[in-house]
Amino acid sequence: MISAIESANKLKEYEKHIEELCAKGGYWDRVKLLGATKTVEAERINEIRKLTGLSCIGENRVQELLEKYDALNKEGLELHFIGKLQSNKVKYIIDKVTMIESLDSLSLAKEIQRQAKKRGIVMDVLIEVNIGREKEKSGVLPEDIYAFIDSIKDLDAIRVKGIMTIAPRCDKKEERIKFFEETYKIFIDISSKMPHNISMSVLSMGMTESYEEAILSGANLVRIGSGIFGKRDTAAKSEENNNK
Ligand SMILES: *Cc1c(COP(=O)(O)O)cnc(C)c1O
Repeated sequence: MISAIESANKLKEYEKHIEELCAKGGYWDRVKLLGATKTVEAERINEIRKLTGLSCIGENRVQELLEKYDALNKEGLELHFIGKLQSNKVKYIIDKVTMIESLDSLSLAKEIQRQAKKRGIVMDVLIEVNIGREKEKSGVLPEDIYAFIDSIKDLDAIRVKGIMTIAPRCDKKEERIKFFEETYKIFIDISSKMPHNISMSVLSMGMTESYEEAILSGANLVRIGSGIFGKRDTAAKSEENNNK
């Protein structure tokens, strides 16, 4: 495990590089960095945030989020849920997260609507797109996305803010770029036809290995974990895979 100071320095390097990419890439003036903090303890997250001003973090497991939640410093914290979310667990996180990036089914949308209504809030969500059409991954298929948007357009306690994707593992940069560009095209296409509860402003794609290509293909939110916080142990990794 690497120290909080080391993580903070890495994070600052990422931020600097992201700024440079924005300057030369030209899609957006700013790209937000989300720290993917799975397996990172709450105290360490707090320390790194204090050292860097990092405001946005993402958790991918409900159980882990709940275990860390009380100890997290909430001041200025934007907490995103980025993993596979089962409908029956929405009630545990609905009052804790600022955004659910992994909306992937109508039943999940209906449950978010129900739980948000109960608490008198409106939940920001991203629609997760399975851009690689991978069987083992969740997400709405690209060809189904308009029907999906149509099916959730009357859910008034959900505010669709954009699109999230986890691109397939690719050895070649060019392959990744193809998936990211395809996602950007969908993002732009939806923007031009949006119903009332949709405001396409967030395109979340790219991780440690792929954030550069993602930004140069139009991402304005990148989710970086191991590059900042260090390699995760293998137990956590296999669990991650089970969640996909
Ligand atoms: C873990 C995770 C990331 C970050 O992955 P790294 O390769 O560690 O940067 C991004 N998105 C999701 C959904 C994740 O679960």
